Order: sequence, then structure tokens, then C-alpha cells
Amino acid sequence: MAPMERDESRPTLPEPGPAVACEDCHDVLHADGDGSPSFLLLDELTVPLLSCDAHLERFAAICELTSDDTASLLHHRPAGGVPCPSCQLAPYSPGQAMVPVQDGAIVVLACPNHQTGVIERFHTGLETHQQLTTDLGSHPSL
Ligand SMILES: [Zn+2]
Ligand SMILES: [Zn+2]
Repeated sequence: MAPMERDESRPTLPEPGPAVACEDCHDVLHADGDGSPSFLLLDELTVPLLSCDAHLERFAAICELTSDDTASLLHHRPAGGVPCPSCQLAPYSPGQAMVPVQDGAIVVLACPNHQTGVIERFHTGLETHQQLTTDLGSHPSL
């Protein structure tokens, strides 16, 4: 008769997200729905975002590296609204998809499709940015 081994590791409550060093980001992300989102316009994307101004601009600048066009930031609803109906229904939840940006963080308040889309753009932009800075100091051997 084998003794049943009981795993005492009970499910821990999810952390309320990684600590955000930037106080402005922290304030915005913990505003409990009071903060109105800003909007990133990049190519065909219109994505509601939540963060402080400095990190919104940083995020937009990185995303812009993946496009030939300019990324725009709106601090109000775009005139045409958000074209994607699913994005309009995306729940306001500061816990969702928090993306670290330097010492701050961005929350993407979009549907899963566009959330993934813009986060991929950001990561691609970051890689481009890193290559740009690396190439300045070294000659790539081809
Ligand atoms: Zn910030
Ligand atoms: Zn969407």
C-alpha cells in the first residue's frame, strides 16, 4: 500500500504584476479604471494603451522602428474611434498584458489579436534598436 504523497504546494495567488519602478506608470496602472487610455496609431493598428507619457512615447518610438510610417500617440479617442469591435470590448484590466518598458510598463487594452500584434511589433522594434546601437560600436563581419 503506497502512501499517497500529498503535494503541499498549493496554488499561489497570482502576483499583482511585476513591480513598476516608474512612479508615474504605477499611478496610471493602479488608477482603478479612472485613467483614460491613450491610443497608438501605427500603420493599420489603433491600439488603446495605458502608461505614463514618458513610457508611452518610448513604446511608440520603439514600435515605429518596425514601420516606414510614423507612429502617432493620441491622448484622446481617435476621431474614427477604434476600428476593431473586439478592441472596443476589451476589458479594462490593468493586470492584462503588462509589457515592461525600461523602468516602466505599458498595458495594452486591446483584443488578444491586436494585443499580440502590437507586443510583437514592440519586441521586433527592440531588437532593431539593439542592433542599431550595437552596430555603432562594432563592424559586423560578413
Ligand atoms: Zn512611466
Ligand atoms: Zn482588436
